[in-house]
This record gives sequence, C-alpha cells and structure tokens, in this order.
Amino acid sequence: MNVRDSELVSNRLMSLGYSPTENEEEADIIIVNSCSVRGKAEDKALGKVGLLCSKVRPGVHVGLMGCMAQRLGESIFGKVPGLAFSVGTRAESRIPAILKRLETGESNICETGVFDEDSPNLGYVAPSGKAVQPISSFVTILFGCNRRCAYCIVPDVRGNEHSRVPSEIISEIRALAGTGVQEVTLLGQSVMNYGKRGFTWPSDIPSPMGFTEPLPRLFELITRDVPQISRIRFTSGHPSGVTNELVRAMRDIPQICKHLHLPMQSGSDRILKEMRRGYDAATYVEAVAHLRTAVPDIAVTTDIIVGFPGETDADFEDTRRVMEAAQFDNSFIFKYSPRPGTPAAQMPDDVSEEEKMRRNQVLLEDQDKRGLAMNQKFIGQVTEVLAEGPSLRNSTRWSGRNSQNKIVVFEPTSSISVGDTVKVKITDAHPQTLFGELA
Ligand code: SAH
Ligand code: SF4
Repeated sequence: MNVRDSELVSNRLMSLGYSPTENEEEADIIIVNSCSVRGKAEDKALGKVGLLCSKVRPGVHVGLMGCMAQRLGESIFGKVPGLAFSVGTRAESRIPAILKRLETGESNICETGVFDEDSPNLGYVAPSGKAVQPISSFVTILFGCNRRCAYCIVPDVRGNEHSRVPSEIISEIRALAGTGVQEVTLLGQSVMNYGKRGFTWPSDIPSPMGFTEPLPRLFELITRDVPQISRIRFTSGHPSGVTNELVRAMRDIPQICKHLHLPMQSGSDRILKEMRRGYDAATYVEAVAHLRTAVPDIAVTTDIIVGFPGETDADFEDTRRVMEAAQFDNSFIFKYSPRPGTPAAQMPDDVSEEEKMRRNQVLLEDQDKRGLAMNQKFIGQVTEVLAEGPSLRNSTRWSGRNSQNKIVVFEPTSSISVGDTVKVKITDAHPQTLFGELA
C-alpha cells in the first residue's frame, strides 16, 4: 500500500514538472514514506529521515508521509530537527500545496490533524516521464480498516474502512493499461470487505455471472472494461471473505490469478481469540479447503505473528500443526511488536526476544521444507510466466511470476520482451523459486 501511495505522490509531482532522481544528493525534495506496523519499521524510517535532515544541502526540503507521520503528528518535529513537513495517510493529496508553502518560507508544516473519512487520500494522476513503465501495478480499492485486531495499529493510522467507487477504480486501471500495465493487484487491508460499507453497487452495472457481492462484481467489471489486463490479484484476504461467490470468481474468471494471501496470524484458538481475529483455526482451515477444492492448483500464502502476549509453547506448536495442515506455499513470519494504543500493548509482552527469534526460525525452517516440497510438484510441468526482465541475481537469466505468484527463473531468447507471457517448463525447484526453460 505504501509503494502505491509513494508512486501516486511521485506521479503527482512529475505532473507538476518535477523530475525523479535516484540520487539523494541531487534531489531538491525528499519525502520518506513510513510504516508503523512494527516498531522496527518506525525505527528505520526515523533513522532515515533524521540522517537526511542532518546532511542535506541548504534549501533542500525533507518531508515525512505515511503511517508514522499520521501517528506522531506535530511531535515529529521535536524528534527530527530540520524536517520541513509531515503529511498523514489521508492528506497526501496536499503535498503539492505544501511545497508551495515551503517556497514562501514556511516550515514544520503538519497535515495530520484532518482525517477526512469521506475522501480517498489520493486521486489518480497519470504517470509521466518515467523511462520504464512497469507491467504490474498496485491499485488501492479499499482504504483503512474496521477490524481492530488487538495487536494492530493500522486502524488508528489509516482510519475507518472506505471503499472507492467502481468508476474511479476502472479509470485508474484503464490509465495504467494505457501505459502497458498487464497485471493489477487490488489492495485493501481486508480486501474482501470491498464495497460492504459506504456505497451501493451501481444498479446499472450488470453481473453476467450472477454475482451479488461487490468484490466479484468488481473483478467482472475490470475484465469487461479493461480487457488489456490479463491478470488480477487481490490482497489481503480474511477467512470470513472466502464466500461461495469469491471462490466461484476465482475458479471461473480466467484473469484472476491462482493465489490468495490469507493471513492466519496464529493456529492457536486461544491466541486467535486474544488477537480478536474473528475466526478459529478450524474455520481458517475450512476456508483454505474450500478454495483448494474449487481451485485445486491455487497457492495459499500467509502471515504469522510469533510471541504474541501469553503465547505458550503449546500455542506455538498449534501454529506449527495448523500451518502444516494448511500447506502454505509461502509464509511471512513476524515477531510480535507492541504498538502504542493497541489493546495488546496493555498485555505484558512476556515472550522473550530470544524465544521470539527461536519460534521465528523454527517456522521459517518448516516453511522452507514445505515450500520446497510444494514447488517440486511443478517439476516437469509447463507454467505460464509474465516476463519481468533480467533476474536480480543473475542478469543473463530472466525472471517473472506465474499465476500462483511463484518466481520463475529461465533462460531468455533474444526475441523476448518485458511483458511477454511465456511458457516455461520447470526443471528445478527451490523453496521460494522455480527454475526452467522456455517450452
Ligand atoms: N490487513 C492485513 C495485515 C496488514 S499488516 C491482514 O489483516 O491480513 C501485515 C502483517 O503485519 C500482519 O498480517 C501481521 O502478521 C503483521 N503485524 C501486524 N501488527 C503487528 C505487530 N504489532 N507485531 C508484529 N507483527 C504485526
Ligand atoms: Fe490490522 Fe487486523 Fe485490520 Fe489487518 S485486519 S489491518 S491486522 S486490524
């Protein structure tokens, strides 16, 4: 979500005549986008913005945006001397106006007080002047979150849930397709809540497949109105959103990729309840089974928090067991970090750092074994890959992703172009990567 917000700010500045640079020393304006989800992310952003402010040339403006700006308000100026401005999560469209105010000599401009629930944080402005256009883009469809999981700061810093209307989303995707984008990832903290509050689906948009829920209807609308989009992804899921319609959409709409990121957080019913996640382990596993029965080749990935307050060895072993039962293709493991103002921050953070590290390591090792076994099933198969260009590790090879969101590395031919969909025969598998040759 932050990547997308940064792009939108960047596009907006380019449309005003600014040009982007990769070199900090050359920049006249540097804006650091920040994340508050874990303490470490905040420490990093604070370190970065502090360093920038201490070393930039006179006249260069350094600003902060994103969740940490929202959370800290005016107090950020006491922590970071020299910071020119700080902009909250729903005021980013004000950055151009702030830059004008800086020109008149104003400083320490803080736009975090206004939390306008009714308007999205940023309107879309077409990108301009970028040398290489991406083939894949994020598109935020749902701002904020209403769930209030006990450990999570997101609802405080991103506000209540607010869905964008379909016409706005379609015009953004159409503009992206015009620049060569073929794959969109629709974003929302609890993306399956799209359209459930705040607006009624327009009655003049039919659903040929007979859907009543807004998210499947949005998928249909994208395929109808922007046929250049060959792949649709969406994240993050919640088990309560794995409805018959959602599963049918994933099965029957060819553009929808066979991958779902469905954060589980824990496999212990007691911890899930303390986390206020709204499901137990059995319900979670049922949701995964529902998906796998309808879409047998679907990849399912997850997020897990280790060391939540009160997590015992037995709770942790439950998580290991349920992760094995769910057969995750990939898992992102996080060590619990108390966030100010959340209900969990009131509980004692009683799992030691060493134990959090141990649990983290155990789950990563389990996942490596599981991921390898799951990826080995692809060996001998031909998989379709959207070619992204030379691989980061070895530029003589190319990489891309298949529908299951697996990274596939292959030998290119001289005629291949970025954005081609190619068939790759898989010859080797690592826990997180597939290797193969053009079929
Ligand atoms: N809305 C998404 C998650 C967004 S935050 C969802 O509910 O699925 C991304 C991930 O960060 C979460 O899934 C969780 O695993 C992790 N996370 C959130 N708060 C955390 C905290 N206080 N400590 C450690 N990890 C956290
Ligand atoms: Fe945070 Fe829970 Fe909302 Fe995800 S669903 S953003 S974890 S409160």
